[in-house]
Amino acid sequence: MPRGVYKRTKKHLESLDKARSKIKRSPLSEETKKKIGDANRKQIEFYCDHCGNISSDRPSHYKRKKRHFCSMSCYAKYRKEIMPPSQQPTWRGGVSNTEAHRRWKKKNPERMAHLKARRYARERGAKGSHTLAEWKELKLKHNFLCAICGEKKPLTKDHIIPLSEGGTDYISNIQPLCRNCNSKKWKKLNIDKKIPATN
Ligand SMILES: [Zn+2]
Ligand SMILES: [Zn+2]
Repeated sequence: MPRGVYKRTKKHLESLDKARSKIKRSPLSEETKKKIGDANRKQIEFYCDHCGNISSDRPSHYKRKKRHFCSMSCYAKYRKEIMPPSQQPTWRGGVSNTEAHRRWKKKNPERMAHLKARRYARERGAKGSHTLAEWKELKLKHNFLCAICGEKKPLTKDHIIPLSEGGTDYISNIQPLCRNCNSKKWKKLNIDKKIPATN
């Protein structure tokens, strides 16, 4: 599943620049560069935390890690057999999977709504799909305003051509509407449909 794209806003970049400008660092001399290079070329020897064999690594890599292994397979075995569960990368706080999922849902309401809507569209046989990032981008493009009344209200996804009329679930067929405008559109659509039926 694609994850959201986290774009840096202008404000974010500006604050980064500001922080960087505060760090006064004179350019490294050729001598220091050579020293750093030499230090890193030197290999540091260590015992593998799993099989105990002697292995070596660059000092800068060695220092970065808490545990040291001779190979990826030793690391995999260590993770599988020895590493305490609370230190596993997949550790979920010692709760059951269902409880962890429930907590995740509570923490990610926007993503849940997105997944629900995607399933709704898929079940109605709609072509295509869009990502949560695309929907966020669309709202940003509309300045978080409703596409019909232009008011700043909580926005819902509206399919411009309704799914029931063969509209797709691509982002090009979606506009942000407030609840009020969305339900008005639905009412109007249903009335329009009823008129030819009565004729
Ligand atoms: Zn090993
Ligand atoms: Zn509106």
